Amino acid sequence: AEGARVPALVIGSGYGGAVAALRLTRAGVDTHIVEMGRAWDTPGPDGKVFSGILSPDKRSTWLSDTTDQPVSNFMGFGINKKIDRYVGVLESEKFAGIKVYQGRGVGGGSLVNGGMAVTPKRDFFEQILPTIDADQMYSTYFPRANSTLGVNHIDEAWFESTPWYQFSRVGRKTAHRSGFATTFVPNVYDFEHMKREAAGTAQASALGAEVIYGNNAGKRSLDKTYLALAAATGRLTVTTLHRVTAVEPAATGGGYQVTMEQINEQGGVIATKSVTADRVFFAAGSVGTSKLLVTMKAQGKLPNLSSQVGEEWGNNGNIMFGRANHMWDSTGSKQSTIPAMGIDNWADPTASVFAEIAPLPAGLETYVSLYLAITNNPERARFRYNTATGKVDLDWRATQNQLGIDMTKRVFDKINKKEGTIYRTDLFGVYKTWGDHLTYHPLGGCVLGRATDDHGRLHEYPGLYVMDGALVPGNVGVNPFVTITALAERNMEAIIAADLG
Ligand code: FAD
Repeated sequence: AEGARVPALVIGSGYGGAVAALRLTRAGVDTHIVEMGRAWDTPGPDGKVFSGILSPDKRSTWLSDTTDQPVSNFMGFGINKKIDRYVGVLESEKFAGIKVYQGRGVGGGSLVNGGMAVTPKRDFFEQILPTIDADQMYSTYFPRANSTLGVNHIDEAWFESTPWYQFSRVGRKTAHRSGFATTFVPNVYDFEHMKREAAGTAQASALGAEVIYGNNAGKRSLDKTYLALAAATGRLTVTTLHRVTAVEPAATGGGYQVTMEQINEQGGVIATKSVTADRVFFAAGSVGTSKLLVTMKAQGKLPNLSSQVGEEWGNNGNIMFGRANHMWDSTGSKQSTIPAMGIDNWADPTASVFAEIAPLPAGLETYVSLYLAITNNPERARFRYNTATGKVDLDWRATQNQLGIDMTKRVFDKINKKEGTIYRTDLFGVYKTWGDHLTYHPLGGCVLGRATDDHGRLHEYPGLYVMDGALVPGNVGVNPFVTITALAERNMEAIIAADLG
């Protein structure tokens, strides 16, 4: 309520926010999460909470008049459709040189993502965050993150025999034929549930073309794991459809004044409120946290923030693309939406690529192998407050993707040559091979040990912390949520011991 005082306020309910909430509530601290999206716990008129990929409705997309599918075109046709403006679950946030996809609602990115739960390669983790004790991360915090997230492994015998993973097996076969290694990828989607879907004894979700607009069953999203555990303490309050717009030192009594806008389901502002919090945890995601902090510094509300705030943003080297297979290498009209395998060429410095073999669940045979390549692209961008527009710009340029494309080509040109196949040029527009205008993996903007101290404290302002993907400097070599979760586990443990003890 307006004017209230709370001990701990968490901005955002994705991975960083969910870890902060669980560890604070378990430490006996009453914790308040403010989330700009809705709670995805109530079915719509069709009896379902989320809409599927093949028939998206207003629930699919955050405050937009059309869907904005990552694979936007097929054989010359645009596949986006008109929808009602609504606080839908997936946002494609547009900056001048890149579009950043993010989840919106209680659970953040966990509501929309592919669930791939990958622990980064240790030598690369040590390279990007050299001041962190890697022994501790790999012995304590990565295992803690994996177990609390509910990470599980696919039954390999089932994988080899089910039609639902034919697309993965074709991707693997063509990779192996060119000498590239593949690896199974763990996931938070319950693979036993998926087997029951295939057998017709459980509600189809991964096998029912659901993922980027939410899964109606099977997925262990954060609302089912970390956030449910935090709620079970009785110390968690979650306020939805409220967007934090400002954080500044409180005029009296210490702590911070947090200003927020309450929005309706069409995004209209219906109230502005402020509360005071002793501690504020920024967990609005790489983009959300960076935008807030850069704005607070520029507007003089938090003027002493480090000059490193807003720096070192990267797209995790994301390049999406497709290959056209021959008719005898059909990828199947049945495709699980949950990726289970990656091509791992990371160790090759000239073509450092970890490529997820991605599904393209179209409900019909497409012969397409779709990939999301994570490349070792060291390019970075920065967030800057634009006084003319009052908004925050991100200065990433399309040309910064070239290194990632070059590495991707070194792997997939070889596969195409061996197979006598070509890239699809129709998936991202007309004659556009590389889906490099979008990322699923925003990272950085408030990097650990540089914009913050070594545990995410904004040390110029005691009681302010960063706890999400903004801490990770630009690329981590694998899908990022396990890293974000484990870092938050590590940082929260130290913060609770030292600052709240
Ligand atoms: P987020 O999860 O983005 O959470 C931030 C939350 O803060 C959101 O709920 C947002 O609504 C809220 N928020 C933002 N601003 C405000 C504000 N001002 N006030 C109040 N609330 C606010 N990663 C993997 O590891 N594996 C995958 O398979 C994978 N697949 C993906 C597929 C898709 C389609 C997408 C979009 C992402 C995928 N990712 C995947 C990436 C992963 O989801 C993100 O890295 C992760 O969610 C980031 O966690 P976070 O805690 O930094 O922030």
